[in-house]
Amino acid sequence: MLNSMVEISAWIRSIRDNGRIAFIDIQDGSFAEALQVVAESSELPRDCHNGAAVLVRGTLVKSPARGQNVELKAEQIFLLGNCPQENYPLQKKQHSLDFLRSIPHLRIRTNTFLAVARIRSFLAQAIHRFFEREQYYHIHTPIITSSDTEGTGELFSVHHKKGTSFFGTPSYLTVSGQLAAETHALALGKVYTFGPTFRAENSNTNRHLSEFWMIEAEAAFLDIGGLIELSTSMLYYVLYELYKECIEDIRLLSTLHTPELIEQIEHLLTTSYVRISYTEAIDVLKSAKRNFTFSPQWGMDIQTEHEKFLCEIHYKAPVVIYDYPRAEKAFYMRVNDDQKTVAAMDIILPYFGEIVGGSQREERYDVLLCSMKEQGINPSHYTSYLDLRRFGSVIHAGFGLGFERLVQCATGMRNIRDVIPFPRAPGLIPD
Ligand code: ATP
Ligand code: MN
Repeated sequence: MLNSMVEISAWIRSIRDNGRIAFIDIQDGSFAEALQVVAESSELPRDCHNGAAVLVRGTLVKSPARGQNVELKAEQIFLLGNCPQENYPLQKKQHSLDFLRSIPHLRIRTNTFLAVARIRSFLAQAIHRFFEREQYYHIHTPIITSSDTEGTGELFSVHHKKGTSFFGTPSYLTVSGQLAAETHALALGKVYTFGPTFRAENSNTNRHLSEFWMIEAEAAFLDIGGLIELSTSMLYYVLYELYKECIEDIRLLSTLHTPELIEQIEHLLTTSYVRISYTEAIDVLKSAKRNFTFSPQWGMDIQTEHEKFLCEIHYKAPVVIYDYPRAEKAFYMRVNDDQKTVAAMDIILPYFGEIVGGSQREERYDVLLCSMKEQGINPSHYTSYLDLRRFGSVIHAGFGLGFERLVQCATGMRNIRDVIPFPRAPGLIPD
């Protein structure tokens, strides 16, 4: 490419013009740093401002100045789209993420959001590559459903605008594709979905969205050990690929927002995941000489302060916790022989928290029926789910990975609303 003639259509990021020579930084979305165009001031068309779209014809040359390797020596510049400066919300100065969140249609034009968008795209494709390599089938599960998989009641209902019940039964936006994925796993063997998920939870945190994307894998003949293997190797694979291919974007984000980002990703790539049972985790927490706000007790929910202690202080590694108390968990998780715990697992990352949740599913008809009754779930709403246990049932397991949480980890963005193009969360009015 060097010393060859090129033609680039892009947007102006900044312009410095001393009346003789102009330096114009342009960005077309494909690279981390803007490309510097050098032109004679007399060659500049009128209205060449920050934000305007231009077509530049010129030669790529090695840059004599520091700060960039190459620059574009312009021969001709055409103005494609004017950008009146008076009303343009993106000025050259750094805007706060808070301000940028108020203009989602324009924030994508900043270096931060371009880098996040490229990483998001790369990770999505890497996930598909991982499952292709593992010979999983990609399936599509429905978005409108009538079941509340997680049993939490945090559902958005779907009905006709005129108020009529459209389907003749209460219907909701899906909170998880798991139940549908299980039907396919018990025929196709190994499947995954990657689709939008909706939760009407009123959690105004920097980890929760009302609409997020979830990767859910489900496989027959897989037990909890195999599931832990699968989910941790997926995380390793996608982060390693990202580190290899997108290091410039990672560097940019670490310079702009999170200085420790590169180190954190390297730590994840060089440290093995610690695997401990919930009971062991509680024992470790109990013997820690710490004043936790919630003092650790068998049966309790593991809180953020506990996760932080385990990952960041005690093990200094990502931690997989498995075999949780039965009472805390969903009806479909497989009851262990101790009758007290279920074969559920969570992956907790240092400086981040929970990223993956999964379980081996209860494949025994009688035990499943029993768990449903214990949790006050009406089995008649789950006849097809029970059918899977009546006809050719086998052990199987699956996990869910919140895609935005993965993007947060990979970009170091602290607020989940900054890793999805158009965030939906309580109080944010959809545009
Ligand atoms: P949390 O305890 O963080 O609310 P959860 O236990 O409700 O998570 P699961 O129902 O196991 O989560 O969902 C699987 C994965 O989906 C989680 O591990 C997480 O990565 C992601 N996830 C769950 N809820 C949300 C949300 N509201 N916004 C974004 N991602 C989410
Ligand atoms: Mn939740």
